[in-house]
Amino acid sequence: MDKITRRSFVHKFGMGVGATAVISSLPSFITAPAAQPKYTGKKLNIALCGLGYYAEKIAEGLQSTQYCTLAGIVSGTPAKAKLWQEKYNIPDGNSYNYSNFDEIVNSKNIDMVYVVLPNGLHKEFVIRAAKAGKHVITEKPMATSPEDCRAMIKACEDAGVQLAVGYRLHYEPTHLEIKRLGQDKVFGQVRFIEASLGYQTYDVAASAQDINFNDPAEWRLNKKLSGGGPLIELGIYCIQACRYVLGEEPIAVTAQFGHINNPKRFAQVEESISWQMEFASGAVANCNSSCSFNIDRFYAAADNGSFELSPALSYGPFEGKTSNGILKYPEINQQQAQLDGICSVIINNKPLPNHINGYEGLKDLSIITAIYKAAKTGKRVTL
Ligand code: NDP
Repeated sequence: MDKITRRSFVHKFGMGVGATAVISSLPSFITAPAAQPKYTGKKLNIALCGLGYYAEKIAEGLQSTQYCTLAGIVSGTPAKAKLWQEKYNIPDGNSYNYSNFDEIVNSKNIDMVYVVLPNGLHKEFVIRAAKAGKHVITEKPMATSPEDCRAMIKACEDAGVQLAVGYRLHYEPTHLEIKRLGQDKVFGQVRFIEASLGYQTYDVAASAQDINFNDPAEWRLNKKLSGGGPLIELGIYCIQACRYVLGEEPIAVTAQFGHINNPKRFAQVEESISWQMEFASGAVANCNSSCSFNIDRFYAAADNGSFELSPALSYGPFEGKTSNGILKYPEINQQQAQLDGICSVIINNKPLPNHINGYEGLKDLSIITAIYKAAKTGKRVTL
């Protein structure tokens, strides 16, 4: 069996993400970018903070954005920073490290910081960016606890800057369509959802290997840096999809941790988890997330029909069907769409809509915290 590294794990998130297909057929409620006049005004200058796997994907997306551009970097690895500077033509003055980052307050060349660090570091760097007067995007999960989310929201509000969470699927046509199908009750009230996302992240034959939890490459296994296992890292997409398809919030959750096949790797965070969410309408969702098996699907059963996707929640390309036929839209660059969606609002001095701001991230962290509590106690937890 091939050795499955953390890198190949995150690569699985990225399958096909770079592909930018010609947009030939979008849902009628989405205006195709080509139909809009091209924006020619000043772009927001973004500094990427933490130059790992996903920062590279964002940098790729930033090559085709209209409303923002890659102007700066923040990194703890000088050799990598130099390579990025050369590749993206970033001047020395726009290159920071984690120690001198606060000097960004003096820079007129950076308008916004995009935090792409391990989850447990989002809070610190969002707050430092806000104090420096910069708008901020932070990757999902927004933080590792609701308390940290609240502190981040407050810091941004106090500083008068905007805070967004990097929910790429909020700008993806297939997901906008399942949101419409659910919220507009196109097939009637949705009664039941199944949503699962998991990746096999290790080779079972290597289960005896010791893990260095301080190795930066293993931060996802380190509870302090990750906040948890597949639930907080992957399951957040299942929670999101259930919430935006139903257009309502869960009122209670139950949950069960799964079997631990590899106790050395999963000594601090869960290896697998199943959970159930109850909604006020009576709808229920049944979800799974795992680091030990591959799964990526969504199914919604409504009064007069159903709709489903598989692949559903990763980077796609997404495809599925409804009771009326095939459900598929051309692939887009998800990062470009998300960045332009967020930055077009900020550049027009408008407040970010609730579905993409810090309050949305806080809702997810409150649900995730309740799910962990339910799994630990074996009890139904109300929200
Ligand atoms: P990586 O491990 O690939 O990169 C994280 C980077 O953070 C490192 O390369 C390093 O950059 C910096 N860093 C600073 N301190 C530490 C530390 N103590 N341990 C490890 N890294 C550190 O992670 P990803 O890029 O995959 O994930 C980063 C964030 O993006 C996470 O919040 C994750 O959930 C999210 N993500 C989102 C995805 C999406 O689809 N929206 C997909 C994948 C990840 P440097 O060397 O420059 O200092």
